[in-house]
Amino acid sequence: MANVGYTDTPFLPNSPYRVHDAARPQPRIITPGGVPGAACFLPAPSDGIALFDGTDLSGWVGKDGGPAPWKVENGYMEVAPRTGDIRTKVEFGNCQLHLEWATPSEVVGDSQGRGNSGVFLLGLYEIQVLDCFNNPTYADGTAGAIYGQVPPLVNPSRGPGEWQSYDIIWEGPEFNGDQLVQPAKVTVLFNGVVVQHGAHPIGITGHRNVGEYRPHPPVGPLRLQDHGNPMRFRNIWYRPLTG
Ligand code: MG
Repeated sequence: MANVGYTDTPFLPNSPYRVHDAARPQPRIITPGGVPGAACFLPAPSDGIALFDGTDLSGWVGKDGGPAPWKVENGYMEVAPRTGDIRTKVEFGNCQLHLEWATPSEVVGDSQGRGNSGVFLLGLYEIQVLDCFNNPTYADGTAGAIYGQVPPLVNPSRGPGEWQSYDIIWEGPEFNGDQLVQPAKVTVLFNGVVVQHGAHPIGITGHRNVGEYRPHPPVGPLRLQDHGNPMRFRNIWYRPLTG
């Protein structure tokens, strides 16, 4: 795997592995249950708040705060490559988040260059989105990873062009002034399979560095990444964890 990771990045805290370590073992590949496509479509419950209902991007803005420049068609949004990330107008905190995504059916590129996007909680903490079907990459950059920090427990990826789902339970970090009191905690189901179980981000997502926490509000937008690939998303909703 030496060609898909790094050997010169800093070591992760309390870990024998470097950030994006080329030698870190690949998550075990499994086949998710159910039927590709419709089986991963999970309608929102009655108290679910839609962030994207398949019709327009009126709830989103682009990197400059103007209208979100991505494409909407056939009930999904599609990254308009190199127009930048988009984020929700609404800001929210601890939540259950559901979304569905598909990588391009035409396979282009490899490793981090193939079907790359990302789901950023509070706009800061990335759960990696990547075409990881027959596409080795560094373990902490696999789909379902807390990017650059915690690889997924397994790899239940479906193939290019197939709809896949994330169900994310997010608890943000707590700060007292400048001090971190409690790190964030996240559980992720990928195609119905647990890939993160109460995992703690090391800090705000970065590239080739060890993430660090810095104080921020308990709420923020949901941000989706433009990594240059025409990725698709649909059926995005959340529920605040407020009982
Ligand atoms: Mg990404």
